[in-house]
Amino acid sequence: MKYDEFEPYYTEAENLYKVHGETNSDSTEPTHSADYPYPAVSHETEMQKIYEAIANQGLHPSTIPLGLTRQEDDPTSDSEESCLVPALKYANVTLKTQAKVLSLHTNPSGRSVKGVEAEVGGQSYLFLGDIVVLACGAINSAALLLRSANDSHPKGLANSSDQVGRNLMKSLLSSVVQLSTKPNNGSFQKSIYVNDFYWGDADFPYPMGHIQNSGGLLTDIIFAESPPVFSIVAKLMPNFGLKQLATHSIGWWAQTEDLPDSNNRVRLENNKIHIDYNPNNTEAHDRLIYRWTDVLKNIEKSLDGFRTGFLHPRAESPLQVVANQCGTCRFGDDPLTSVLDRDCCAHDLDNLYVVDGSFFPSNAAVSPALTIIANALRVGDRLIERLK
Ligand SMILES: Cc1cc2nc3c(=O)[nH]c(=O)nc-3n(C[C@H](O)[C@H](O)[C@H](O)COP(=O)(O)OP(=O)(O)OC[C@H]3O[C@@H](n4cnc5c(N)ncnc54)[C@H](O)[C@@H]3O)c2cc1C
Repeated sequence: MKYDEFEPYYTEAENLYKVHGETNSDSTEPTHSADYPYPAVSHETEMQKIYEAIANQGLHPSTIPLGLTRQEDDPTSDSEESCLVPALKYANVTLKTQAKVLSLHTNPSGRSVKGVEAEVGGQSYLFLGDIVVLACGAINSAALLLRSANDSHPKGLANSSDQVGRNLMKSLLSSVVQLSTKPNNGSFQKSIYVNDFYWGDADFPYPMGHIQNSGGLLTDIIFAESPPVFSIVAKLMPNFGLKQLATHSIGWWAQTEDLPDSNNRVRLENNKIHIDYNPNNTEAHDRLIYRWTDVLKNIEKSLDGFRTGFLHPRAESPLQVVANQCGTCRFGDDPLTSVLDRDCCAHDLDNLYVVDGSFFPSNAAVSPALTIIANALRVGDRLIERLK
């Protein structure tokens, strides 16, 4: 499947999620049939100086496209705002909250899913449907399929290929911290990305990945969840409290694609989710970090507020950071090696669609959400056709 087939849906997703950005600012960018619906956000004053210093190194920094509502109380354009609330205006849409799906049940032939067993507010329910769309995220969708094993599907639903749960990917993600002598407010928006090394460079002609600045370290949730980087920073600046550390730091994310590996997988052990994950493609990731650290050292020479010779502490995201989880039910034409067909319908079942990050056959070095949204819109069109 080529990008051309996805492109209209990326554009639709960008409109739906009110993406603010600037097209054609990045040489790795594919063609767009339309500009982003809203202009790019401007950088914080300090970040603007860094942006210019990066450009002065002969690199091509760009402004991160961001989904924003611009509403003060809820500025981020999320799926509740962009999709759920508009969908609930239709009389035939019902939303069940506090609902946990426990298992999917097939008809006697085993070819169709007929029932969705769920616990809603502590009570058990069985919902019946002609078409079932699963979208629990790559890890939980795989776990649910494995949990739904029955006599017709002894290895788990949709799992005759033994591929359900396999090829879990989550990106190689490391933070690199730049220490500054001047304080920032610690809660600014992320806004800069650099793809100059995405496809490699003269010394390493293989894909290395993507760089972006984190938001202010006081507001970036992944930063808080993930790296033990602050303990390293704390050792370097022993008299600083956490807030002071955060306001004297600028965080950068280095992101590299991890490759599909069938041994990296979600499986069940005593009905509990177990994840086997060994990172691969680590040389590319290390090179990206070293390359980026060199850039930071160079720009600090010309920037006010940075001392040359400061170290750049780095830390890799640990296993529990699965923000970018994907894979586990990859799509493909061959039922022996993939779980879903091109329309994200399970090869083994005629009415079960999986429409979340699990369909990815391989990963990218950028966050997956827009592709997941675009694919959901694409599959939605197939479902409309099917229902006609
Ligand atoms: C802190 C954080 C920051 C991120 N920042 C970015 C970013 O800046 N840009 C970007 O592109 N991506 C970002 N991501 C990644 C992005 O959020 C995910 O890639 C995307 O949401 C995955 O979509 P999905 O549909 O596969 O799963 P999800 O969005 O995880 O949706 C799955 C849903 O299924 C529900 N569910 C799970 N199991 C069950 C069950 N058994 N029964 C009922 N419901 C169930 C879950 O509660 C959840 O609501 C971030 C992720 C995190 C955690």
